[in-house]
Amino acid sequence: MDAQELINRITALNVWKKGDQRAPHKPLLLLLALARANTDKPRLIPFDEIENKLTRLLEDFGPSRANYYPELPFWHLQSDQIWEMPNTTDVLTASGSVSKKYLRDHHVAAGFTQDVYGLLQANGELLEQVAMQLLEDNFPPSVHQDILDEVGLDFEATAQTTNQKRAKRDPTFRRRVLEAYDYRCAICSFSVRMENTPIALEAAHIKWFQAGGPDIESNGLALCSLHHKLLDRGALAISAEHKVMVSEKANGHSGFEEWVLNFDGKVLLKPRNSLYLPKVEFTDWHIREVFQGKYGHSQ
Ligand SMILES: [Zn+2]
Repeated sequence: MDAQELINRITALNVWKKGDQRAPHKPLLLLLALARANTDKPRLIPFDEIENKLTRLLEDFGPSRANYYPELPFWHLQSDQIWEMPNTTDVLTASGSVSKKYLRDHHVAAGFTQDVYGLLQANGELLEQVAMQLLEDNFPPSVHQDILDEVGLDFEATAQTTNQKRAKRDPTFRRRVLEAYDYRCAICSFSVRMENTPIALEAAHIKWFQAGGPDIESNGLALCSLHHKLLDRGALAISAEHKVMVSEKANGHSGFEEWVLNFDGKVLLKPRNSLYLPKVEFTDWHIREVFQGKYGHSQ
């Protein structure tokens, strides 16, 4: 295998999806394994060493769910030909499923195959490229650095240009969305310019582009950088009535009251045209797949 082949396999990663549910399991496990390949720890990772960390990543960066299944990517990544679990004879139960308890109790280990691991260890740039590819395919740019920091990959998130799988983005999306809201944050009305150029004002996708969300105004919101990030991290959501909802998990000190809690239950600014109002199919997706937990403070 060479570097290009590895990139191709990462691009072709067989990510389990049901409808338009997000499935961040494999990407997050691979990112953890990449961080480990950067250290001098052994190639194969015992499940019990990674279970808690992966569960926490799924909680923080995956959809809010009643249960989390870190054992699934640990097992299923084998089919992507970059990952192996030697000595797997007894891992599957009689019904053919993989048991978290078994993996934990028997310290079952898995990791990158020897040739993939060799490539990654020899080539730090390749390792970064693989990490960024995983992020770009599965998460919006506003959360890339948060995930890198959380998995322990010590470099800065930079956009990659090699991503073959990526669908073409509409270059006019940003302008159309900012215009629809008269260049103001739809949540806090923030509007600051240098001469004629808006600063820290962004066009957010409600249903993520990475999940097939379209580049249309009714899937977009003009938001200041702060509220964009809060929306993408699931600290905020938009209700079917276009009200801001704050997750009960969100908390903080300075700024929390003024910039977050104050907007709980408030209605978004109206766009220029009612056709641009956020569509419920997109706000529903965001609530299901991104918003962290129950509606929070005011309900
Ligand atoms: Zn704002």
